[in-house]
Amino acid sequence: MWVVVVVADVEGEFVAWAAPVDGGGADAHGLMLGVDSGGGGRHHGDHAGDGLGVHGVSFRTPSAFASKVSGMSSSPRDFDDAKVQIKDRVDLMQLVAESVPLKRTGSSFKGLCPFHGEKTPSFHVFPGSQTFKCFGCGKGGDVFTWVMETESLGFFEAMKLLAERAGVALPEQSEESRQQARVAKTALQLLSELQGFYLERLRAEDAAEARQYMEQRGLAPAQQLFGIGYMPGPRAGGVPEELARWLRGQRVPKELALELGLIFDTRQGPLDRFRHRLSFPIHDERGRVVGFGGRILPGYESEREPKYLNSPESPVFSKRRLLFGLHQARRQKAKRLVVMEGYTDVIAAQMAGVAGAVATLGTALTRQHASLLRRFSSDGVVLLFDGDAAGRRAAERAFHVLAPEELEASVCLLPEGLDPADLVQEQGAEALEKVLAAARPAWQVFVELLGDRCNLSSPEGRQQAAGSCRELLSGIEEFRRRRLLAEQLGRVLMIPEEVLLPQRRRQGSAAAARPAPASVERDSEGHARDSIFAALLAEPGLLVELEERMEDEESFFPKELPRLLLGQLRDSVISTGDVPSPDELLSSWMTTAAEIPGAVQHLSSLADLARTFEDPRLALLGGVDFLDRKRHARELSRLKEGYRQALAAGDEAAARELELALQQALRRRAP
Ligand SMILES: [Zn+2]
Repeated sequence: MWVVVVVADVEGEFVAWAAPVDGGGADAHGLMLGVDSGGGGRHHGDHAGDGLGVHGVSFRTPSAFASKVSGMSSSPRDFDDAKVQIKDRVDLMQLVAESVPLKRTGSSFKGLCPFHGEKTPSFHVFPGSQTFKCFGCGKGGDVFTWVMETESLGFFEAMKLLAERAGVALPEQSEESRQQARVAKTALQLLSELQGFYLERLRAEDAAEARQYMEQRGLAPAQQLFGIGYMPGPRAGGVPEELARWLRGQRVPKELALELGLIFDTRQGPLDRFRHRLSFPIHDERGRVVGFGGRILPGYESEREPKYLNSPESPVFSKRRLLFGLHQARRQKAKRLVVMEGYTDVIAAQMAGVAGAVATLGTALTRQHASLLRRFSSDGVVLLFDGDAAGRRAAERAFHVLAPEELEASVCLLPEGLDPADLVQEQGAEALEKVLAAARPAWQVFVELLGDRCNLSSPEGRQQAAGSCRELLSGIEEFRRRRLLAEQLGRVLMIPEEVLLPQRRRQGSAAAARPAPASVERDSEGHARDSIFAALLAEPGLLVELEERMEDEESFFPKELPRLLLGQLRDSVISTGDVPSPDELLSSWMTTAAEIPGAVQHLSSLADLARTFEDPRLALLGGVDFLDRKRHARELSRLKEGYRQALAAGDEAAARELELALQQALRRRAP
């Protein structure tokens, strides 16, 4: 078992010490890897930290550290006990302040809510009860909730993280999970040492070839940030492989080196897998080296030696959950992440000033990638794909993966056959920035791609498109997001959202789940009204434009609540002489809506919709125009019907009057 104890060093920085206390682990960590256990002060591992204030993890044998450990560790009896101890020791205010600037107000601290967009702070931390609460969106909880929400972890993982921070040892885990943890720790240790080895080799005399190639490819300036090193290969004359020799020198168990894909067995003995390559360390989101990518040097390519080679899947390396460049992006405090296809793209983009460039390791985007993206991109994600057929398919697939996540995703498609690295090299950093600036909301690109794939003017094409939307929406668990996206798609495709929303089966009867046939017309008018209200939520000052253009409030808004809300906004402008802020407006409308069933949800989905508007004024005008046309069409059909009846009844006077009214109405609004 491992005990993790956190102690403050002289500068008041936290240093985490991990010490195996069951003896068996000590051997694996201390001897086989040749770790200096004599207290020589050698630090291992990367020092980038994990965002929670743990600045480096050092491994010592228990003997050197026993006295300190026994004095500071605590051993809770069970998980409830551990939970209480963690809550006692972790200062929630401090933890929150690491990512959200807080100001004291009375007995609490307040700041801008990290869970919803706001301009005036309504997010509070209460040090007395060690809890937080946002009065805007309602999110709240304790230290565990905070870590679970902000790091998107499950309860147990959050607990482990906090236990590390608080220096609380968690109760015993199963033998299997302890074994896995031991293997992972040893592997991470080895990979970190190996990274040092590759870096050292790049400086060696016989690495001239590698250094020259780096210059040639423009990678030299990126060497330090990306930790590019050299993976040496055999020299002529059957000299033993350099890496294999190094591994033996470090007394690394062969099984581990095999498992991490560093060597493979041959009849002549173990050989190293990575040879004659530039090495690119691959970090996890906490900055630990978990594997390598290798780019072969010119002249060594062959069928058995592909151009790029990555570490294989291992206990610490899983392509499904790794993003190349994320570690650097976090270090550079990038808030927007740009997902590209290869690691040379990422390096070129980051060096050109696009700090948030990341890439998957040759796999399609997964749910795990999506959750990483959500955790580390407070300003949204841009997906950069090649504009060819494969890139378009990838974009569509990526949206399926990202749609369920609470993140703002946009997409740009590059000109066919051009990758970001080429673009930067040929046209400079500005060219890439220009492409990124043209990114459009992912759902809009999704609709466009649907239009390419299905003929939206034919009933079959529309059915096919609706089917694709249902498939997309069925992957979204959260009701509000599903509904919002259905509204957005429905509005553009002019398909009622009820048709797009996947049917949720109720228990027992499938027939009961079939939605009532919805009227397209009524639904579109609902959309128009929603657009108007969302536009007001985005920009309350647009009330003036609405009032100017709305001929008849009652025909625009036949229901009472919208008129009530409009009246409320109008009164507030008149009485204060000022337009309320979007947050103020939302909160005052929410208060009014609280009385009416379903209204709060609807308003909050409108607030979400509001955030998607690039130009709220255009949205408002579009909604007004639509309702106006509808109102006008209804007036015309009423007049026509009256005219028809008057003619049938032989009432010529009435017929003439109605005919005049009809002509006037037609003139008032050309179709
Ligand atoms: Zn909030």
